Amino acid sequence: MTKLKIAVQKSGRLSEKSIQLLRECGISLPNGDRKLRMEAGNFPIEVLFLRDDDIPQYVEQGVADVGILGENEVWEKDKQVVIVEKLGFAGCRLSLAIPKDEVYSGPAYFQGKRVATSYPRILQKYFEEQQVHATIEEIGGSVEIAPGIGLADGIFDIVSTGSTLLMNGLKEVEVVVKSEAVLIGRPDLEADKQHILDKILFRIKAVRNSAENKYILLNAPNNVIPHISRILPGMKSPTVLPLVEPGWSSIHSVVREDEFWDVIDELKNLGAQGILVIPIEKMVL
Ligand code: ATP
Ligand code: MG
Repeated sequence: MTKLKIAVQKSGRLSEKSIQLLRECGISLPNGDRKLRMEAGNFPIEVLFLRDDDIPQYVEQGVADVGILGENEVWEKDKQVVIVEKLGFAGCRLSLAIPKDEVYSGPAYFQGKRVATSYPRILQKYFEEQQVHATIEEIGGSVEIAPGIGLADGIFDIVSTGSTLLMNGLKEVEVVVKSEAVLIGRPDLEADKQHILDKILFRIKAVRNSAENKYILLNAPNNVIPHISRILPGMKSPTVLPLVEPGWSSIHSVVREDEFWDVIDELKNLGAQGILVIPIEKMVL
């Protein structure tokens, strides 16, 4: 039987979340020791555990059919792969940083300077766009110590909270690109493998929708139901059930997590009471 080979990071920031995503999609994977490969018990996939740097190349060559990794690695490696779906975790940015006491004047600051990075291609492209001539020092890791030891004048690296920069006496001066975890694939996947991938994508979307939305229940006087229906349109329209108390109804709907607090204020102003907000496990639109 055809299996879809999916590459995930063996150990690192993406590993657990990648496996968790597959499990939330109902794919059962054995616990315990992570070997190089693992087969799902109830779904035609095989998981390969690799270094994230190698995933674009393996997908291009067909060793794996799809892979989960940070967009930053996809851009840097620049292989013949396509981004199939953004996954919404491992958000970070690739930024330029310089010693904190330096005065920053804009990208031209880097003219003639040396910049250390593990992402030379992305940085080169940025400097070309900005018409900046700088020397790029490619190093494998611990980029943030480069200015302190005299290896470079600045760095170009992954930033999430900025605390690593701060600890090394650096300040972020330019956000070049934003990145998140993505699912990549070969552009010419065979039909039977594409069919398996489509099933996984359908499930991934259901999981992501559920994470971004909440189920909301509340009681409200009947005269404000039309107004509340406009605020809480839900998936099609809200459900309205009569309460035993005359003139009142229970309204059920779905609300986006990021709009939740604004909506609550409006609902309270309209006289809504007993508002309950409940997580959704899966959501199919
Ligand atoms: P490997 O051994 O597989 O090569 P690595 O050391 O290159 O691992 P990690 O540090 O585990 O990689 O990071 C993997 C990915 O997670 C990065 O490419 C990036 O997309 C994302 N990432 C890295 N650092 C952060 C961070 N601080 N916050 C959020 N996401 C991050
Ligand atoms: Mg890596």
